[in-house]
Amino acid sequence: MLSVAENIKSVRDSLFPGVSLVAVSKFHPAAIIREAYDAGQILFGESRVQELVKKEPLLPSEIKWHFIGHLQTNKVRQLVPSVALIQSIDSEKLLRMVDRESERIGRVTDVLLQLHVALETTKFGFTCDECEALVDSGVIDSLHNVRICGVMGMATNTDNDAEIHKEFREIRRVFDYLSSGAMAGKDYFRTVSMGMSEDYRIAMEEGSTMVRIGTSIFGEREY
Ligand SMILES: *Cc1c(COP(=O)(O)O)cnc(C)c1O
Repeated sequence: MLSVAENIKSVRDSLFPGVSLVAVSKFHPAAIIREAYDAGQILFGESRVQELVKKEPLLPSEIKWHFIGHLQTNKVRQLVPSVALIQSIDSEKLLRMVDRESERIGRVTDVLLQLHVALETTKFGFTCDECEALVDSGVIDSLHNVRICGVMGMATNTDNDAEIHKEFREIRRVFDYLSSGAMAGKDYFRTVSMGMSEDYRIAMEEGSTMVRIGTSIFGEREY
């Protein structure tokens, strides 16, 4: 078995220039995350609030924690102080709650809007139309404590590469539409988070700027 450090190196070596790597550490203990940190990894992704806030104080403060799971509104207060980027904003209501809570504690929270492009009904997110309508509506201009830094999405879990290409292309299309439209001139709007262990190569071909990789770094998760 290769070490976490070796896995990180081989994943890094396979990334297109300019693509950043989020190491998805959900279900893995702090000691293993530490190995990745010691190998130079700074961005980590977690999908449960409880788990993120438990691990955060055990690990170096230089680590930037990304939240990538479905965020329940009643967990927003707990998450906001510990998180560097919430990748999974999937409703206007949630966006407003993160804004309000960030204002309350005097910070600005970076977020991505999650798009639902996969065929599975279980994946959360805005449809492309809903996402474009939300940003075009201008309501985000009144939310001063969230900064919309881009979009995130997942492709269908399938062997059909053509379908995966199509879905990632759709996410990138929404990003391009917004960055030349309502988000034009906002230099922080620059992240297209797409691609996991099984499909990140396709995601990069379709214009991903950030991949979220768990299994290829840490091995299989034991739920
Ligand atoms: C678990 C998870 C990942 C990582 O998946 P792997 O297949 O282990 O690389 C990426 N993104 C999200 C949203 C996840 O929940």
